[in-house]
Amino acid sequence: MASLVFVTGGVVSSLGKGLSAAALAAILESRGLKVTLVKLDPYINVDPGTMSPFQHGEVYVTGDGAETDLDLGHYERFVRTRMGQLNNCTSGRIYSNVIAKERRGDYLGATVQVIPHVTDEIKDWVIRASEGYDIAMIEIGGTVGDIESLPFLEAIRQLGVEYGKNAMFMHLTLVPFLRAANEIKTKPTQHSVKELRSIGIQPDILLCRSEIELSKAERDKIALFTNVPTKAVITALDAKNSIYDIPKMLYDEGLDDLIVEGFGLEDKVGEANLDDWLEVVDRTINTRHEVTVAIVGKYVEHHDAYKSLTEAIAHGGLRQRIKVNIKRLESEDLMGNDLSSLEDVDAILVPGGFGERGFEGKVNAIRHARENGIPYLGICYGMQAAVVEFARNVCGLEGANTTETDPETPHKVIGLITEWLDASGSVEKRDEECDLGGTMRLGGQQCRLKEGSLARRLYGREIVTERHRHRYEFNNHYRDIFQKNGMVLSGLSMDETLVEIIELPDHPWFLACQFHPEFTSSPRDGHPLFTGFIEAALIEQQGEVPKGVARL
Ligand code: GLN
Repeated sequence: MASLVFVTGGVVSSLGKGLSAAALAAILESRGLKVTLVKLDPYINVDPGTMSPFQHGEVYVTGDGAETDLDLGHYERFVRTRMGQLNNCTSGRIYSNVIAKERRGDYLGATVQVIPHVTDEIKDWVIRASEGYDIAMIEIGGTVGDIESLPFLEAIRQLGVEYGKNAMFMHLTLVPFLRAANEIKTKPTQHSVKELRSIGIQPDILLCRSEIELSKAERDKIALFTNVPTKAVITALDAKNSIYDIPKMLYDEGLDDLIVEGFGLEDKVGEANLDDWLEVVDRTINTRHEVTVAIVGKYVEHHDAYKSLTEAIAHGGLRQRIKVNIKRLESEDLMGNDLSSLEDVDAILVPGGFGERGFEGKVNAIRHARENGIPYLGICYGMQAAVVEFARNVCGLEGANTTETDPETPHKVIGLITEWLDASGSVEKRDEECDLGGTMRLGGQQCRLKEGSLARRLYGREIVTERHRHRYEFNNHYRDIFQKNGMVLSGLSMDETLVEIIELPDHPWFLACQFHPEFTSSPRDGHPLFTGFIEAALIEQQGEVPKGVARL
């Protein structure tokens, strides 16, 4: 049986529950424990797959094809355990399971209620997701006091009783510093804990988000009002340099010991070893070079819409200590002839996206990169746009497009498989009315890399597994004409039916992939495509391979 750490938040949202949970898990993992993390989200969407990145940030995709909350990205960047379908669960998922059971008659005529039917479903989920681990950290989305999160809180209260000493509750709160009064205020924390206790949950640990270190007297005061021992009232300061500093910061506060001692695991664990994290932070702070990469996209204003992408770009600079500045450009602003905003950048990236708006701006930016020898990395929609650009401007296929933006195009160089497959093809015609949720090519799939290609050199092996999230594909009828014009199809699906990577050998660095490499990049390992791309940006900027930089 796994021990469970429930992570809740109070006072305000955005306290960084996910990051704190992930960083704590990283310390525990370094002590030799097998740790997993689970995110329980109170909203009614069955999964975040249909939610706009403007509202909810990016949709993170796991290896087994779950479309999940972006916190799972933090989890995978901090721990070695891989996330999957069981690591993210929403109210919508719980209710749809309960309703399916009710329709099947599983409840034998009982009146189906929040307690016990919904809460039992939640408890079952948590127990299944934590099986096989020493510790499972269970993060509850939202803030204590929200109506929507009540069934989850009731379920974890019950689990707390059932698991006894094998369950702990960690609550994050805000301790604001009032500049005018020159003091911190503990009242919101007191109220938040009171709210939690009113539903039967007594926290074991308080993680107090604060701008300044709390004094012993202040921690004593919080302890007194909340029944939490002073040593378990912990200051969680903002990470100044890097989020990858958080494991060390929490370790310095003794947070991992509280968990290990709380569960009586002292004999089972070793010392924490945070060397990897110190190294990552050192490489983040002590940089030797600086480059600027333009992201040309649609959701550039929303901070979290490209979370994994911006992380992966930063990881890409770590190997050679390159600080990477990101210039976010709205693709709609690049629709005309004025591409001056691209002049001062060292590399251009077009990320994944959906829909027609701004597509031509992406095509323009890619043409600029291709014609001027600027390193280009295209991801998913960014590969499809590169294919469209090449079709029109190199292959001379006038009006070529993806059917996503122009269903009537004379050259469907990108389309739904059913749109370009022969009538005899084996794929069934897509139902126009079909659901939008869960209907994409999703999750990790293998890809074979062509000998002698840039992709093969970067990865250093023949077969790789990368994660997908898209409906449209490169139209195989155009393979020949693209290859004749100099494009290399350097990655194909294992059965060779789908084009996964394209590149231009005549260009200093031009590569685009149908999958999302940002989901498998981590600070400790980076990702070969991002590392290669950022290093190419540096070489482009310097006009040569800088001294001490071994070219990847
Ligand atoms: N809209 C494109 C498709 O569905 C690309 C999706 C993406 O970039 N993730 O194929």
